[in-house]
Amino acid sequence: MMTRRTFLSASVLLGAAAVSAPMSAQQQPASAAADPKLIEDLVAAYRILARHDVLDGFGHVSMRHDRSANRFIMSRSLAPELVTAGDLIEFDFDGNAVDARGRAPYSERFIHAEIYRARPDVKAVVHAHAPSLIPYGVTTVPLRPVYHMASFIGDGVPVFDIRKTFGMTDMLVSDSAKGRALALALGGKTCVLMRGHGVAVVGPSIPIAAGRSIYLDMNARIQTQAMALGGGKVTYLDPQEAQKMMDAGENRGYERAWELWKAQASRP
Ligand SMILES: [Zn+2]
Repeated sequence: MMTRRTFLSASVLLGAAAVSAPMSAQQQPASAAADPKLIEDLVAAYRILARHDVLDGFGHVSMRHDRSANRFIMSRSLAPELVTAGDLIEFDFDGNAVDARGRAPYSERFIHAEIYRARPDVKAVVHAHAPSLIPYGVTTVPLRPVYHMASFIGDGVPVFDIRKTFGMTDMLVSDSAKGRALALALGGKTCVLMRGHGVAVVGPSIPIAAGRSIYLDMNARIQTQAMALGGGKVTYLDPQEAQKMMDAGENRGYERAWELWKAQASRP
């Protein structure tokens, strides 16, 4: 039972805290534990995307917290293939770690934060530097769907050029303003190329965001090969064909492939 003395002490402490420093995210308690199945999928996504060469020593994946819609979870700053559940940190949309416990965050966590803030439908985000995609961010050649597995590209992929808004930078989306500009360029699409840098891919689940990342990379490589043949015009999916595939259930939510990818990624 709380005594008058301890009650007064608590009141003083709370009052002092309120006056001296507004409650920051670091002082807020972490959300209730996320679904262990989602945590398992998030850790698997890091390994899967590394094994598919979508991520290398850099890049990251996140998920919106299933118990707290204004929070998201991603790894501490670490090479993707090495990520375990113990490396995951919860963040608010200002990029503040809720439970860092001394662990360093990725500098580009603002990509994820501002996309979750802007897009309530998004439950998972991938940021990658896949080399296959870079040419489509630095030339006037648009990335378009060349085969059915990449129907989520639809009528094209927007390109975010950080220089247009921020001038000369180190190219990294390392604060909220840059994250907001990227989210604006993404709009309602499934992915956005980042000029001279990489890509951000989103989805309504971890398997879908990861699956889109894998097939976006494959589509870029196939499109480059098709164009390199130089024998004539490339026939892309018509936006109506792409839409019909999406309406039919995009690649069946990647469920079949996801189980395979997880099994492959769990092998040493
Ligand atoms: Zn990056």
